[in-house]
Amino acid sequence: MDEETRRIIECAKCPGPVCNSAAFMKGPENCPTQVEADVIEETKHWYEEPGVAEFARQASIVEGEAYGPTPWAPDTMSTVTTRLEEIIKLAKKMGYKKLGVAFCIGLRNEAGILIPILENNGFEVVSVCCKTGGVPKEDIGIKEEEKIRSGRYETMCNPIAQAEILNREGTEFNILVGLCVGHDALFLKYARALTTVFIVKDRVLAHNPAAALYLSSTVYYRRLLAKDNSAD
Ligand code: SF4
Repeated sequence: MDEETRRIIECAKCPGPVCNSAAFMKGPENCPTQVEADVIEETKHWYEEPGVAEFARQASIVEGEAYGPTPWAPDTMSTVTTRLEEIIKLAKKMGYKKLGVAFCIGLRNEAGILIPILENNGFEVVSVCCKTGGVPKEDIGIKEEEKIRSGRYETMCNPIAQAEILNREGTEFNILVGLCVGHDALFLKYARALTTVFIVKDRVLAHNPAAALYLSSTVYYRRLLAKDNSAD
């Protein structure tokens, strides 16, 4: 499709998603199922690649096993697995033996609870803290006034080293625990093994960032819906 006729893809504004049904070709005019049909076709084959095919299959099986009949209403479905259980199930189904945990120093307590759970499930776990290396923030151009507390020594978060340490340890699957926005992105860029996210950091909302959306129509967080909320 040429650039002039290309329409912006806006699935999040879809008036009635049909892609989750057998009527998947009946979406709106800008539905990527139709206007990006070549991408859909090409990427289907990417699921056949070594290292992807079995992972995609097992991830889908874990998804399917996340639901079961509601005991008191067997005709309806209930969710039955936590995210933690799903991570363990997927890693077991894939036959992984060695896992990597990249955690934020602010969530070391959570990492400290998580790791024995993984070990009790038979995994060898390599864990790396975000501040590994003790590299000063000045090394990446941070000025005194850009630190959390100016005038003090501050160690930069080091997601690239976290990823490379896990790469060299040969971890087969990595789990992120609370890396900061952006530091998580760098970890994902440099990690060799596939990586999932267990905890997403939200310093205000008890690591539940979706709460900002749920509260965005309330008086407390209405500022989030303003055109410019000055969150720069
Ligand atoms: S893929 Fe098509 S049907 Fe599905 S949400 Fe996007 S626009 Fe709607």
